[in-house]
Amino acid sequence: MKEVFEGSFTQQEPIPEEGIAAALEVMQHGRLHRYNVAEGEAGEAALLEQEFADFTGASYALAVASGGYAMGCALRALGVRPGDKVLSNGFTLAPVPGAIASVNAEPVFVETTENLTIDLGDLAERIRTSQAEVLLLSHMRGHLCDMDALMQICDSSGVRVVEDCAHTMGATWDGTPSGRHGAFGCYSCQTYKHINSGEGGFLVSDDPDLMARAIILSGSYMLFGRHIASPPPEIFESVKWETPNISGRMDNLRAAILRPQLTRLQAQISAWNVRYRTVEDGLRNTPGLTVIDRDPRGAYVGSSIQFRLPQAAAGEIEDFTARCATRGVELKWFGAPEPRAFTSRYDSWRYAGTQRLPRTDRVLHGLIDMRLPLTFSIEDCRVISRIIREEARAILDTAACAG
Ligand SMILES: *Cc1c(COP(=O)(O)O)cnc(C)c1O
Repeated sequence: MKEVFEGSFTQQEPIPEEGIAAALEVMQHGRLHRYNVAEGEAGEAALLEQEFADFTGASYALAVASGGYAMGCALRALGVRPGDKVLSNGFTLAPVPGAIASVNAEPVFVETTENLTIDLGDLAERIRTSQAEVLLLSHMRGHLCDMDALMQICDSSGVRVVEDCAHTMGATWDGTPSGRHGAFGCYSCQTYKHINSGEGGFLVSDDPDLMARAIILSGSYMLFGRHIASPPPEIFESVKWETPNISGRMDNLRAAILRPQLTRLQAQISAWNVRYRTVEDGLRNTPGLTVIDRDPRGAYVGSSIQFRLPQAAAGEIEDFTARCATRGVELKWFGAPEPRAFTSRYDSWRYAGTQRLPRTDRVLHGLIDMRLPLTFSIEDCRVISRIIREEARAILDTAACAG
């Protein structure tokens, strides 16, 4: 009998008891809107922002409705106009080009290395040819590029950087938290990310003018004085007249759920990384399968794992993922010709025009992606990696018989 995995790849942990208690309290007093606070009360959203600013070391933080909203808001605050070109990764997920499209700007995709990071040589080239002034950098699946080299390229050509940290909340590059290199860091608290309020997001920045704009954009009305992790009131003096309100606030209920999760995040990261390393160790040295190298300067959060089957043909990969699925192991393939579930790729975002990225195509062709929810035990991770290993071998055996 072949071993079968019985666990669920989409089952999250429950919300911590303190989060449930805090949420109940908000529902009991009824002040869910972030600016609906009692005398002397800061409100859960404002407190969460302060705690998130402390967590990242940023001067300012703003909690919003989603990660996608955070990115769109950052682009607006930076003054991106309709028709402007905005650079971004060829390998990312749909909310990233979607944020660019939300301001009627045009995405210009940059090539991807075999380590799944943005190709810095191609970035420099596309900065030259596109004249773009903003890069929306996606730390896709938590793979950080050499951030010092990237910032040098961008700073020397006047390109502002917005970081999409949907997969790097809690990660660092050479000790600096992800989201702290660019003008803005954007995060998601959607169920499948590192802290879970169903939907939600954050922006962080050290720039008082940009953050004042983001706060007004998010829908603060003239109540920005109720924020804690925000620039001082005088910064809003001119900004409040010229910045539209594009509502995308976080409410006190979600903030209440998130605060205890933020406190526990460091411990959760360790738990993820033990699971990640267990699967990675189990997959290493499998013939025909390549694990993704990680630069030791980057500290990651192993909430998902990727590997490549660089020599396999499309049909073999279809076969492989189908066989893993019958054994309970749910994999996503970035080389599939049609977008499926959460997985799509740059050439399926047709509104962005036709762009050719041959290097990215080669990488995505054999790229497999798997979630690692914290509800998996270490033993689960061993079972999963054994199954993947056996089925990867089966591809080679079948190819050898046929060949
Ligand atoms: C989830 C995600 C986002 C933002 O997501 P929301 O669902 O809008 O919170 C941004 N970028 C990437 C790469 C993501 O996976």
